Formats: sequence, C-alpha cells, structure tokens
Amino acid sequence: MEMNTIAERQKAFFEKNRTKSYEFRQKALFRLKRTILYYEREIQEALYQDLGKSDFEAYMTEVGMTISELNYVGKHLKRWMKEKGVLTPLAQFPAKSFEVPEPYGTVLIMAPWNYPFMLCIEPLIGAIAAGNCCVVKPSAYAPHTSAIIKKILSCIFPEEFVAVVEGGREENTALLEQEFDYIFFTGSKNVGKIVLKKAAENLTPVTLELGGKSPCIVDETADLKLAAKRLVFGKYLNSGQTCVAPDYLFVQESVKQKFIEYLKYWIDKMFGTEPLKNSDYPRIINEKHYERLMKLIEGESIVKGGYGNKERLFIAPTVLDNITEHSPIMQEEIFGPILPVLSYGNLEEAEAFIKKGEKPLALYLFTGNKKTEQRILNTISFGGGCINDTIIHLATSRMGFGGVGASGMGSYHGKRSFDTFSHTRSIVKKYQWIDLPIRYQPYTRRKKKLLHLFLK
Ligand code: NAD
Repeated sequence: MEMNTIAERQKAFFEKNRTKSYEFRQKALFRLKRTILYYEREIQEALYQDLGKSDFEAYMTEVGMTISELNYVGKHLKRWMKEKGVLTPLAQFPAKSFEVPEPYGTVLIMAPWNYPFMLCIEPLIGAIAAGNCCVVKPSAYAPHTSAIIKKILSCIFPEEFVAVVEGGREENTALLEQEFDYIFFTGSKNVGKIVLKKAAENLTPVTLELGGKSPCIVDETADLKLAAKRLVFGKYLNSGQTCVAPDYLFVQESVKQKFIEYLKYWIDKMFGTEPLKNSDYPRIINEKHYERLMKLIEGESIVKGGYGNKERLFIAPTVLDNITEHSPIMQEEIFGPILPVLSYGNLEEAEAFIKKGEKPLALYLFTGNKKTEQRILNTISFGGGCINDTIIHLATSRMGFGGVGASGMGSYHGKRSFDTFSHTRSIVKKYQWIDLPIRYQPYTRRKKKLLHLFLK
C-alpha cells in the first residue's frame, strides 16, 4: 500500500474515536502480549538470524522486556487515563479545573537494528496505551526480525490502526513525507537530525532516542573486581552494539593495571578463552560495521582480544590501553565490543574531559565515595546511568529512559511512554449559577482593588 494511503486511512480510523476507549486500548495490549508469547520461538529465531543472539539474551533484552512493559502498562493504564483535578485560582471561582490526556492521533515509530524487536515494540506499547494509531518502521538491517514484527502486528491489528512498513532508504524517505501527529525515532544522531528537520516542516512533535559516547568512570575506592565484572557485562552484551553500552573507560591511574587484569579475568570467565567459539556471543550486524570496528583497533595497544572472524562477523571482546582523546576510537561512538582505556589522576580531569564532549546518553560511575557520587551527579549532564553498575537503569518500566542534548530529547518506558504519546489538556469547567463581574469592563477603582487582592 502507498504511504499516503496508509497515513490517510489511519487518520480516518483515528477520527472514528475507537482507539480512545480504555477497553479498546486494553484489548489491543492484551492481544499484543498473547501474540508475542505465541511467536516467542520465531522471534528468538529471527534475532539469532539477524545478530546471532542467544535465546537467553533474546529473552533478557528483547522479548522479556516487552512482556514486562506490557504487564506494567496494563496494570496502571486505567489510572493514567483518568482526569486529574487541580485547584482553581480564587479569581476563577466557582469552577473545577482538571488535566486530562488525549492521544495525539497518528504516530510514526522508527527503530534501529541493534535491539530490533524491543525498540519497535516498547514505543508501540506506549503509543497504543495512549490511544493512537501507529505506523511502525523496523530497521532493514535486521530483516528477519522486521519480518516477524510485520507478521505479528498484521495478524492482530488492521492496518488502519497499526501498520508495519518494511524497507530501507526509499521507504524511510516516503514515510517522512507524510504528516504524522507524532514521530518517535530511535537511531543515530545524523539520521535524528534529518527526522527533526522533516518534522519541523509540519511542526510535528518528536522524541529522539539517540546514542553517543557514554563514559564509565572507575575510581580507586571502587570494589574493583565487582566493577570489572559489571562493566564487562554491560560493554560486551550484544557484542557492544547497545546504545547505552559503556563506550570508554576512565579509570584512576593508581588502580589502572589492577583493573585491566580484572577486566581480562572476567572476559575469560564470561566468554571463554576462545570467545569466537562461544555460541551465546552475538555477531556484528554487517560487513560494513565489522570493517569499521576492526579499523578502530589497528595500530592500538591491544591488551585483550583484538581479533575477529570476517566471514562470520565476530569480533572478540577487546580492551585497548594507552588511548588518548586524539585516538581514532575516541572520535566516534564505538557500537562494538572494543573498550578503550583512558586514565585520570584526579576527578576534575575526568569531569573536564567528559564535559568537553557532547552530553552522553549514559554515564556510569564506580566508586565507594559518596562525595564523588554527588559531585558527578551535580556537575555532569547526561541522559541517565548507574552508580556501581552499567546499563540496568533502562531495564525498568518505573523510570523514564532518554537522552539529553546530542543524545536525544524526550523519554519513554512505563508512565513516561504514556505521557510521551499523549497531549495533556488543561480544562476549566465554569459553573453557571454565579458570574463574578470583576474581569468585565467598565474597569472601576473598586474592581482594580479586588483584582490586586485576587492576584496576590
Ligand atoms: P540509524 O540512524 O542508521 O537508523 C535508525 C532508523 O532510521 C532505521 O529504521 C533506518 O532505516 C532509518 N534511517 C536510516 N537512514 C535514514 C534516512 N536517511 N532517512 C530516514 N530514515 C533513515 O541507526 P542504526 O545504525 O540503526 O542504530 C545505531 C544508532 O542508534 C546508534 O547511534 C545508537 O546509539 C542508536 N541507538 C539509540 C538507542 C536509544 O534508545 N537511545 C537505542 C538503540 C540505538
């Protein structure tokens, strides 16, 4: 179907007001959950085909996350939809004031390839919960997952309610030519700018979930062995192809060597001494990214890994020492299983370095010092993060997830998703049994006095 036909049919369907009732939303979410569970095996198979993801990671980071979000949203939706009373200023007496959410209308969701199932379905849950119609555009780089998403959504929803558009550049461009009421984009900064420009033409509100270089700071007071374990988990999950993966390590000089030894220890312990033979270790998405990543390793001082298999697109968990801010690997988001190590003497140096760059999507701090914790939280702006852990801050429906500055705008998950896809209307309901004369002309001295009294 042509893009403009899909968009027009969705607009017409939305105007019928059917998506707005609690029952419709709840039923749609229930069907989505049931069908995801029904197709769980096929989803896992698709994720394995696209990224070599193991069943365990597929459930932990994709299917399980969406089921958990569906359960959470389902449980709270009724309350979120209710109007919320607020106090009315005395000057408006007698009246009742309240805020009430309404759906935007038609929503476009564009997703990347690294968590290709979860990053399509999680925003969709929010869009449906808020009462919208939706066009979902999965990434063409993960074609098997894109196909199963299309299969699942088209078997439970009519296209005028939820449509899936597969394809690449041509389809993306055609979609952005349509006028949606909201655009939710997850992907790179460069494409984010294109989306924002197109949205501006129609004054369409957007959420941009972008990426960037997320630092991980480890100071000498941290529990080094545990810190290394948690860092290795967050860095090499999905072979480092995670938007919130710790991009680079900033470790205090005094504990650097010891910490690197722990990193090596945990890499061996988790992935084995021959990680390319580990069937649970995901591969790099395509040859272009494989080549890009291998080039970043070239000529650097490799302390772990540093090799790959081009045919099968695997790169071993890699650690690079003696990296400086001028090293090629520090000029772009890595998005792969390579950890550059930088060191600092005192915290100000690390702080100044991070603040010189763009605001990161995530920041991780390992420390046993509460003052250091407070200081980092007070001085550096970033999307979200963890103290003494990595990446788990996004694995909850109870907090919003999103970037700031160059790492994005807006947030989602749980209530935040509902708010993101809803416009909040403020309403005053005025009663008719009395009408205070003060605001009407002619303006008298007595009215002026009263006005000053009311607006104190
Ligand atoms: P990308 O920007 O290349 O693609 C994202 C989406 O945009 C895809 O659906 C793609 O088909 C589409 N697209 C690509 N080029 C386009 C164009 N010229 N016009 C319109 N649409 C276009 O990103 P990617 O390579 O798929 O994903 C990697 C990036 O995404 C990284 O920067 C990563 O940090 C970021 N990311 C962010 C999050 C987050 O939640 N903040 C999550 C995952 C990935």
